[in-house]
Amino acid sequence: MNPTKFYSDAIEYWNGIEPSVNGMLGGLGTGRIPQVDAIASRTFLRRLDYRLKKIDALVAADCGAGIGRVTEFVLLKVASHVDIVEPVEKFVSQAKVHLQDKPCSFICTGLQNWTPEKNRYGLIWNQWCLSHLTNDDLVAYLIRCSEALSENGVICIKENVSSFTESFDKEDSSVTRTDDSFRKIFQMANLVIIAESLQHGFPDELYPVKMFALVPKPSN
Ligand code: SAH
Repeated sequence: MNPTKFYSDAIEYWNGIEPSVNGMLGGLGTGRIPQVDAIASRTFLRRLDYRLKKIDALVAADCGAGIGRVTEFVLLKVASHVDIVEPVEKFVSQAKVHLQDKPCSFICTGLQNWTPEKNRYGLIWNQWCLSHLTNDDLVAYLIRCSEALSENGVICIKENVSSFTESFDKEDSSVTRTDDSFRKIFQMANLVIIAESLQHGFPDELYPVKMFALVPKPSN
């Protein structure tokens, strides 16, 4: 697959999507899914309290943030500041409007091109966007993320997982990885899993959704 086209097709797809919660969730934003999703994410984060509570004035990144849905319902509950990273300008504009009174910064770029500031982040949250990165770019990006963590910081990933093989969706130019391919990528990026959880309460016809919490492998 040609990476340039893989990335530009995804941007073209998302440019045609309305900047709303429903748009972010592929038409599943009007029922109970947004709430079920946010509650499970907050419960997952509580398992990381033993690290996150040690961080003063925690800065989080919401990566592939869309309009900042996760920032609003999850990250601002634990962070003093959130950096919103998103390549589609109209989503960033929408995030700026509805988060205007919140302690947020806005960075309009794709994750394959983003170098997070070293030592800045207590929490780097990636949800439903890593399917838009190639394997090589994802490994390189995760290595940059691990260098951007402050002491006790954590990288979280919440993504669809496919059960048997990786599957490419040409409609939105994304690749759904298996649990196993995620684990290989984490290993290549020198990350270890400190917590993982399956999302419950989503309709059966959707892909299973998994959350992983990752930290740099201790060097000893
Ligand atoms: N994480 C948000 C948005 C999910 S929709 C939420 O859960 O509500 C998927 C998002 O990934 C869209 O905003 C899309 O623009 C973004 N995206 C597409 N390609 C990307 C890339 N290369 N890097 C980062 N984000 C990307």
